[in-house]
Amino acid sequence: MDYSTDIHWRFGQVVTAVREYVEEQMQLGFLELEENENQLRDRTSSYADLDLTGLRELAVACEKCELSKTRTHVVFGTGNEQADLMFVGEAPGADEDQQGQPFVGRAGQLLTKIIEASGLTRDQVYIANVLKCRPPGNRNPKSSEIESCEPYLIRQVMLIQPKVICALGTFAAQMILRTDAKISNLRGNFHSYHGIKVMPTYHPAYLLRNPGGKRQVWEDIQKVMAELNLSIPRPDAS
Ligand code: SF4
Repeated sequence: MDYSTDIHWRFGQVVTAVREYVEEQMQLGFLELEENENQLRDRTSSYADLDLTGLRELAVACEKCELSKTRTHVVFGTGNEQADLMFVGEAPGADEDQQGQPFVGRAGQLLTKIIEASGLTRDQVYIANVLKCRPPGNRNPKSSEIESCEPYLIRQVMLIQPKVICALGTFAAQMILRTDAKISNLRGNFHSYHGIKVMPTYHPAYLLRNPGGKRQVWEDIQKVMAELNLSIPRPDAS
């Protein structure tokens, strides 16, 4: 193959690779739905001057959607406000609604074990949900509720500036990544949310029903820890 033929062949390979990547991203919904920085700024403009304390005070009094009528407590979020790692779930459950803290029920206890197995504590990460109030009976969030509540999470992320967000479960992953793709297709790889790396993985509540998924979650957590340049302690190291 002469130089001219070779360079054309290589160019064709690059074009094919780019086309395949774009098609894959479009199938996952990323290219159609990606929010630009101006849109993001517009959606959080009313919170632009608030720090996390002010944002929490606003959320605690929030009546922007009908969930305010049935909640016991607003579950804003908890943990290290300078955390490199942020976990984001879907919405509070019954235990969280009662206590006003995220991930404190059975699924939360499993999340705590996962965090501790990775060598961290809950105090070293930040934990929040997309929705700050519990949907009655743990029903799926409505799109109008996500739309109303999402600016709180966006502002939290902007203030905390984590290096990695671990999105727990379908709703959190789909909301953050603006996609309809299944969690089984999203997990295992890093995605981007306004420059922050996002690792979707299964929700701990799913793991309680499907313990077989723990291996995949652990693989995802190992990738997160590697991205943060943190080593996972050996099981016998403590
Ligand atoms: S779910 Fe969010 S938007 Fe709805 S009332 Fe609670 S804090 Fe407000």
